[in-house]
Amino acid sequence: MALNFDLDETQQGLQNMARDFAENEIKPQAEEHDRDAKFPMEIAKKAHELGLMNPGFPEYCGGLGLGIKEEVIIAEAMGAACTGISTALGANMLAAAPLLAVDDEGINKRFLAPMMEEVLFASYGVTEPGCGSDVAGVKTTAKKVGNDYVINGTKQWITGAKYANWFYVLSSTDAAAGHKGLTCFVIPADSEGITVQKKEDMMGQRASSTHAISFDDVKVSEENRLGAEGEGFKISMKAFDKTRPGVAAGACGIIRAAMEYSKQYAMERTSFGMPIAMHQAVSFMVAEMAMKYEAAMLLTYKSAWMIDNGTRNTKYASFAKGFAADAAMESATNAVQVYGGYGYSREYPVEKLMRDAKIYQIYEGTSQIQRLIIAKELFLRNA
Ligand SMILES: Cc1cc2nc3c(=O)[nH]c(=O)nc-3n(C[C@H](O)[C@H](O)[C@H](O)COP(=O)(O)OP(=O)(O)OC[C@H]3O[C@@H](n4cnc5c(N)ncnc54)[C@H](O)[C@@H]3O)c2cc1C
Repeated sequence: MALNFDLDETQQGLQNMARDFAENEIKPQAEEHDRDAKFPMEIAKKAHELGLMNPGFPEYCGGLGLGIKEEVIIAEAMGAACTGISTALGANMLAAAPLLAVDDEGINKRFLAPMMEEVLFASYGVTEPGCGSDVAGVKTTAKKVGNDYVINGTKQWITGAKYANWFYVLSSTDAAAGHKGLTCFVIPADSEGITVQKKEDMMGQRASSTHAISFDDVKVSEENRLGAEGEGFKISMKAFDKTRPGVAAGACGIIRAAMEYSKQYAMERTSFGMPIAMHQAVSFMVAEMAMKYEAAMLLTYKSAWMIDNGTRNTKYASFAKGFAADAAMESATNAVQVYGGYGYSREYPVEKLMRDAKIYQIYEGTSQIQRLIIAKELFLRNA
């Protein structure tokens, strides 16, 4: 199939709507949500009404069944306005990704369908205090007792946990089997024995809410096991093929915002009798942002296009996520540079971009882990 990343009429309409929403409903609220670390509940309600939340939920759950490309379009648009808010709204797609990958209709109807009816949230619980990159090191246990499992353990840095109605939780059913002994569950948040800890005080993306969760003898029905015992690692990793293009798109939003702010400021600010844009050292920083935005978007679209067309995209999802994350950090840092002293001040928008960008090099697999995956694809799979 020929590569074509042009937006068709429907996708163009979606982009226009998402960018209007970002400009009018997110951007004016970004500073307050960042300063006060305020969860964007009201914005979520409006986004939900417009169909900008949960875009990939299947039609049999009342969803629109949109592809990853559409998710990318929404994430890029919202990301350019505030990635704290867009992460809070987009976390549902991360939690749902393993469910969509397994496509167990019973589980999806119980957990995804209600999220189309009203504004509900869900969280993806894999990371633990002792392991993040090394997912195989998960220590949370799930012990079979009759037709139930009993879950014990702690999950760390879980996006949206306080607002979640359910958690996707990776746990070990067979410690001796390592990553082949991991099993995943969908656990209602009101189950007895679950404690969501305090909101973490984060450097950036402060509108998003991050918490530890502890599971203390939490009983889960066998019906809530996703896939078979021992398939949890594979399912969790497969989910990233679907989510990393959307995460890369959020980082692309930061690059575009950095570029737009820098271009405008460089034409207005003068030094040595001319706009600073006339100094090549400044204009080259903006040129670099434009170049990286285009390259990051192309990689992001390609990784989305591949999975939407049924092609394994693991290497490309890591290309997109790794490249866009690093380019977002570089572009945001250079936007601060273009603004000079004003860039360092909280009264101007670019220092927030720099704080927000950093997490893209950490969550959903660090920049080092993206390279590890790419190297494995090259050397072990000859991809
Ligand atoms: C704001 C925020 C939101 C998050 N949301 C979620 C969420 O919703 N759900 C969830 O499950 N997790 C979430 N996380 C966790 C996140 O995915 C992890 O922090 C991340 O995967 C890194 O794991 P770690 O923090 O344990 O770092 P470590 O794995 O301890 O890594 C530390 C450093 O060592 C490097 N490193 C580790 N191993 C290797 C290696 N083999 N080769 C080269 N370098 C290596 C890493 O790149 C990193 O630089 C979130 C984290 C944050 C901060």
